[in-house]
Amino acid sequence: MDEIGTAQNPLRVAIIGSGPAGFYTVSNFLKNKELVVEFDMYDRLPTPFGLVRAGVAPDHQKDKSVQKAYDKSAQLPNFRFFGNVEYGSDVTMKDLRKHYHQVMFSTGAPFDRNLGIPGEDLDGCFSATEFVAWYNGHPDFADRKFDLSQENVVIIGVGNVAIDVARMLCKTHDELSVTDVADHALLALKDSKVKNVYILGRRGPAQAAFTPPEIKELGEFEDADVTVPLEESKVDAASLALIENDKNAIKNINFISEYAERTIQGKSRLLTIRFLVSPLEVIGEDGKVKSVKVVKNKLVENQDGTFRPVATEETENIPAGLIFRSVGYKGKPLPDIPYNENSGTIMNDSGRVIEADGTPVCGLYTAGWIKRGPSGVIGTNKTCAQETVARMIEDIGKGKINIPEDPSIGGAEDLINGIDSAVVTYPEWQNIDRSELQRGEAQGRPRVKYTDIDEMISIAKG
Ligand code: NAP
Repeated sequence: MDEIGTAQNPLRVAIIGSGPAGFYTVSNFLKNKELVVEFDMYDRLPTPFGLVRAGVAPDHQKDKSVQKAYDKSAQLPNFRFFGNVEYGSDVTMKDLRKHYHQVMFSTGAPFDRNLGIPGEDLDGCFSATEFVAWYNGHPDFADRKFDLSQENVVIIGVGNVAIDVARMLCKTHDELSVTDVADHALLALKDSKVKNVYILGRRGPAQAAFTPPEIKELGEFEDADVTVPLEESKVDAASLALIENDKNAIKNINFISEYAERTIQGKSRLLTIRFLVSPLEVIGEDGKVKSVKVVKNKLVENQDGTFRPVATEETENIPAGLIFRSVGYKGKPLPDIPYNENSGTIMNDSGRVIEADGTPVCGLYTAGWIKRGPSGVIGTNKTCAQETVARMIEDIGKGKINIPEDPSIGGAEDLINGIDSAVVTYPEWQNIDRSELQRGEAQGRPRVKYTDIDEMISIAKG
């Protein structure tokens, strides 16, 4: 038999999940010119690009331009996309092992973390991930309802997702109507009665998880003021010493102190960024959220020099008709793959899937948030996938590879043809893409998304 990775016997790689980590797996393989690889990329949605389509904020179109590079990979003759195919139900591990030498999982982190406080399950308390997926037109979330007749909204957490949510709530209809925000969200946000938005950080400005460009944008709303209580904007000496060489943290605290000193101009909405407060309880009335009880924290230094929030005796109630917890995403276990519940990731060693005892599982790999947890920006997935691909190539050299019963292109095609649901190929996704772009052009928007799977499939199939 010819060596694997040659024209006579190409390396057959299945990639499960078509977000950034999936596409960077392809581009990293392509750097290795001698290796002949055939890629089949699967996604449970009919549309590719994962969080670039369903997570990146609609008013951050520049961040979505990475799609162009992914599109280039997808047009290669050795690349196929199979959308609307779910791993675990439509295709199983047994199927994949039958047709591929290597399988790479880049399924992201679709769940969210809980706060673990009383009242969290009251009507009106949501995860930010639900809201983000809703305004981005993710088909699973398109029918969600958020009561935007409420005047007060609290967002818990000070990461970039919290900032995204705050922007969507504070921007005017005019600001949003030039984005690709889902139509249902554009309409609902147009009638929004939201007046006060609070973002709550449990530690100080020096420990905030947001990044400078994102915090800067909060000061640029057309019709919303931004403020920070002066006392909470101050950074203690120990924190200052720790971030001395951290350019991003310094920029962050400069924006925060500028917001604390700004005069509130009386715009229609007010965004208040709070620090050193932790939610204790969501308080409700008739099953609906009414306010959130928070406790003032002080910062205490850990032995490793980091800081943790420690509750004081001081508490207060912040009125809230709508609450979004934005305290991080969480992975979802996949059938037949070792999973670490604590970290919410596939068990792996630098991208090689491993058993609980550390033994590598032959032929299985992972990249992206399901490998390393929900951190970093889109580009972080490039180096993450690079590490995984290096392991994949290393294993080919060592002969540590799955030997599929039928590695032919036709074999995988038979598998696809046997699936009950309508499989969407890349050229068929391009039909959806073209149609969305045309609808957008007619309205002076980047695109107008389809949010219903049946409609997507009907457009895909022409
Ligand atoms: P994140 O950056 O990990 O932020 C989570 C926030 O939740 C932190 O402020 C954390 O505070 C807080 N938190 C955690 N548990 C809490 C609790 N029990 N009570 C109160 N606060 C709590 O997560 P994310 O915002 O979901 O973002 C995920 C990743 O996507 C990040 O890497 C982010 O940069 C990236 N992202 C980037 C962009 C962009 O580039 N524009 C946009 C969106 C997302 P502590 O620090 O105290 O734990």
